[in-house]
Amino acid sequence: MSVNFCSSCGHPMETRSMDGVERRACTNCSFVHWGNYSVGVGALVVKDNKVLLVRRAQEPGKGNWTNPGGYIEQTEPIEETIAREVLEEAGVQATVKGIVAVRDQPRAIHNVYIAFEMQYESGEPQPDGYEVDAAGFFTLEEMQSMQVAGFTKWLVDIALNGQSDGLLADREPVVPSPGNGLFRIP
Ligand SMILES: [Zn+2]
Repeated sequence: MSVNFCSSCGHPMETRSMDGVERRACTNCSFVHWGNYSVGVGALVVKDNKVLLVRRAQEPGKGNWTNPGGYIEQTEPIEETIAREVLEEAGVQATVKGIVAVRDQPRAIHNVYIAFEMQYESGEPQPDGYEVDAAGFFTLEEMQSMQVAGFTKWLVDIALNGQSDGLLADREPVVPSPGNGLFRIP
């Protein structure tokens, strides 16, 4: 699909060779259409060896149990996005510990999914009744008889059997970096 008009100023776009790659660029301003990307975030909240799951009330994946999650917003830190999604979808307060998994989907809309291990803080699971119609903490055994999405099964294995804390949120980086979220190996 060709991008005909600049999403920044509305002027016509042209095809330009940039570092050997043909890209659509604005004839009026500096805007370049680099591609179509999206970033998803997911939460792995573990409590007493049980993982927080929600049941999707809407397509795609209606009826499937998944971990809570969503897509990032333009200027919202991803740590806040995932905490908000967990609270909105499942009624549970949780805070980010670190990043424990990444999925790369290089396709028409290139999606990168970041999975966070999160610390349970408070709240009984309660579905939002819109995006999800059920929520709860479940053991691996209980999940055997549930319709759990394949990707979620992969994440649950990491949450329950992972041998590392992954990339931890760096609250006091050796080089201050205001406005940026930093994650690093311990
Ligand atoms: Zn423009």
